[in-house]
Amino acid sequence: DDNNNTAGLNAASQFDIQGEIVDAKRFGSGHINDTFCVSTNTEDGRSYLLQRINHHIFSNVDGLMNNTKIVLDHLKGKLAHLGEERVEKSTLTLIPTKEGKLYCKDEEGNYWRMFLLIEDTKSYDIVETTAQAYSGGQAFGEFQKQLSDLEAEKLVEILPNFHNIDFRLGNLRKAIEKDSVGRVKSVQDILDYIFDREERMRTILDMAQRGELPLRITHNDTKFNNVLLDQEDNVQCVIDLDTVMPGYVAYDFGDAIRTIINSAAEDEADKTKIVLNIPLFKAYAEGYLSEAKEFLTEAETASLLHGVFLLPYMQAVRFLTDYLEGDTYYKIHYPEHNLVRTNAQLKLVQELEKHESELVEILEQSVNA
Ligand code: ADP
Ligand code: MG
Ligand code: MG
Repeated sequence: DDNNNTAGLNAASQFDIQGEIVDAKRFGSGHINDTFCVSTNTEDGRSYLLQRINHHIFSNVDGLMNNTKIVLDHLKGKLAHLGEERVEKSTLTLIPTKEGKLYCKDEEGNYWRMFLLIEDTKSYDIVETTAQAYSGGQAFGEFQKQLSDLEAEKLVEILPNFHNIDFRLGNLRKAIEKDSVGRVKSVQDILDYIFDREERMRTILDMAQRGELPLRITHNDTKFNNVLLDQEDNVQCVIDLDTVMPGYVAYDFGDAIRTIINSAAEDEADKTKIVLNIPLFKAYAEGYLSEAKEFLTEAETASLLHGVFLLPYMQAVRFLTDYLEGDTYYKIHYPEHNLVRTNAQLKLVQELEKHESELVEILEQSVNA
């Protein structure tokens, strides 16, 4: 709309770009930030990617942008030998403001940043082919690999406890205690199911506490639309670095699998439709491990399967917590929406349990490939 367009044009003019700005149009299908494509009238026809950062989710914009800069500098260092053109295609490139800053703030208190638009790329919301799944795995495997020699402590924990299951279950317990909308009694079976699995779901945390898992730099939003592919569906660039922070590799693996392996939508009400797409799991695992096996420790490789169980479970815990708190966090489209989402994630956990030995075998084969 016009308001947004004007805000986008105004913000775009703060950045250090060549030529005159011709347009700022809404772009992409992200759900977190507001993204615009900015075109200019320069001879090289360069376009830019402008984003209004969601500062309700990311309150520490300065920390976030510093994290992004540190990560991009490191990635670019790794790729420098390939030449500037390749580097600009394979990594995000920040455009500073005219004052040399990484972002700017407008009169309404919104924060903006700009990247080069990476041309001739595609991003998909849903994985459809095994070739795409393989590329997705490769992309995040390579991303982790390239960052495996950057000290995790250099980055701030931009969303504290984001994948910490103790924290998430703690929130669920508080919501049960309060029972603010009187729903606890009606979900007792689901709560039993969740707490029955608590110990298993703590495996990654336990391994980490025993010092078995190195703290790495992970992406933490490994959705498929955060990988840009070229026209042949080969990996080109990992994007959306807002959540990059210290973490364990299995969280990225598990979250990618959570959406890729599910044949249905995240809020499918008909549980019979929620079955596993094993070929896509296999392709993602093969792509991921083709890159990651170079740096993963044995314990990390063993942790991957725990991540696969943990991430849908954790998402169920979050949906159910919101349901018990009266639907204050996730947008709902009907009264029981969060309960339906909870059940859909738990059905996925159930299916994963049913096929566990098959998944183990695929992972073993991919490691040894
Ligand atoms: P969100 O956090 O809202 O998901 P993203 O950073 O993922 O925001 O951007 C939203 C979408 O915009 C992406 O899914 C992708 O399609 C597109 N996009 C983002 N950055 C670039 C870029 N540098 N070049 C081309 N397309 C991009
Ligand atoms: Mg995104
Ligand atoms: Mg994002």
